[in-house]
Amino acid sequence: MSPLHFKGRARRGSGSPARYMPPGSAPAILRRFTRAFHPNPPRGGAKFTSRTSVRGAPLTRQHLNITRTPSNRLTKRAALALLCVPSIFTMAWRSSGATNDELIDNLFANEIASDAVQSAMRSCDRKNYVVVGDAYQDSPQTIGYGATISAPHMHAHCLSMLEDQLVPGARVLDVGSGTGYLTALFASFVTAEENKEGVVVGIEHIPQLTAMSVENFAKDGKEHWLANGKVELVTGDGRLGYPPRAPYDAIHVGAAAPSVPPALIEQLARGGRLVIPVGPEGGHQELRVIDKDENGAVTERTAMGVIYVPLTDAEHQLKNR
Ligand code: SAH
Repeated sequence: MSPLHFKGRARRGSGSPARYMPPGSAPAILRRFTRAFHPNPPRGGAKFTSRTSVRGAPLTRQHLNITRTPSNRLTKRAALALLCVPSIFTMAWRSSGATNDELIDNLFANEIASDAVQSAMRSCDRKNYVVVGDAYQDSPQTIGYGATISAPHMHAHCLSMLEDQLVPGARVLDVGSGTGYLTALFASFVTAEENKEGVVVGIEHIPQLTAMSVENFAKDGKEHWLANGKVELVTGDGRLGYPPRAPYDAIHVGAAAPSVPPALIEQLARGGRLVIPVGPEGGHQELRVIDKDENGAVTERTAMGVIYVPLTDAEHQLKNR
């Protein structure tokens, strides 16, 4: 399975104002130029994708929503020509490098990773978590069992969204922990001070992946976190959260849920944040940021359009691999 295949087809963006589209970003520029060149510009923006990438894969004709008709060949050429002018883009997929440091340098240069995020990402070498494919490419890679390790820019985005919660001593739940890479990144934040009781739980429902994540920790020299209990890698259904270590200051979900599992909201601490992709398998999905304030009130916003594998039961997932 190629890294570009696992997530299914690209989809259209909704054009919703809540959607994340930084000015000067590739989607914003492409949308402006595609409109300028299109013989019949669609109204309301509903026909243009506004994602920064397809989980790290370059934007293609489908992502630009340009169909193969002679009348809009010019539109397609104009838009694709723009892809060849690197200086005006800050595209996530352009962050690939030849080494872990180069990858992080590029994420940082493209303003995807803050100082704290980049130092965490430097401390975990992605090659220790990628089984097949180029670990330093800014794209997802297959890890077997119908799953993938997410693109580095998505991990960087999620870490940035949770940065305020990721203080030394915090409690973190990583649902769908797969390779353990993001779980290790969370641990590097919350264990930064020896005397604080931070803990990170990675919960994964495929036992072979949990076992692989334990091996990956060892390859990356992080087994001490497992030995001293700072990190727990467990097998279970992440839709139910993980009550023994709740409540959590930060919860990350690495697979798209049809709706937000109530257990995750319940297990979120006051002042905590949940980042979760929500939407149907292969359909319109968005990354939601859900906050619980000090009084227990819950608010929600949409950060960006995304494509993730489904948060589902193991049987369904293994059927798709
Ligand atoms: N965050 C990980 C893996 C992302 S892929 C990484 O980047 O390496 C999504 C993961 O969610 C897969 O490993 C998949 O097996 C897992 N998953 C899907 N449904 C799940 C469920 N109900 N409970 C726990 N894990 C689940």
